[in-house]
Amino acid sequence: MALGKDYATQECSIARALEVIGERWTLLVIRDALYGVRRYNDFLLHLGIPRAVLAARLQTLTAEGILEKRRYQESPPREEYVITERGIALWPTLRSLGVWGREHFAETQLRRFEHADCGTELGPYGECPACGTVVPVPDVVMVPGPGLNPDPADPVSRALLRPKRLLEPIETTTGAAVQET
Ligand SMILES: [Zn+2]
Repeated sequence: MALGKDYATQECSIARALEVIGERWTLLVIRDALYGVRRYNDFLLHLGIPRAVLAARLQTLTAEGILEKRRYQESPPREEYVITERGIALWPTLRSLGVWGREHFAETQLRRFEHADCGTELGPYGECPACGTVVPVPDVVMVPGPGLNPDPADPVSRALLRPKRLLEPIETTTGAAVQET
């Protein structure tokens, strides 16, 4: 039996959140946006997501105020998707989900997330155990871990082989090469 489209009988705020972020691929689009992916083609190549699904997810996330569509070039017109404060607020959730996934499904560590000020690996909620503070998202540095493919095919993965801060835009030469359909 197909699942219903929404959780009409649920008044829980988790159910309300899942109305917005619970569809397949959505959290991965948000993850990439936190990593600094902004352009349609970069999402497409990094996620390996069907075009129609990506277009639908970007539309929903923009409508829900999690991404903001911004024009970065006039001629020809090109737009990118920048994560908003509402989207950035999902970082601790994604951080916890990543730690949980690794602990319970024995995933190898692909990336580490560190506090830029002190180099300490973040705790499961995005906090710095050494400084005893919640680390602001722009002060989180993502560092390649031992499980990461050292020679990836797509340009976003290649850009992410170097340590970088979250939200810092990823520049790829292919980002604007394919028109959004
Ligand atoms: Zn610290």
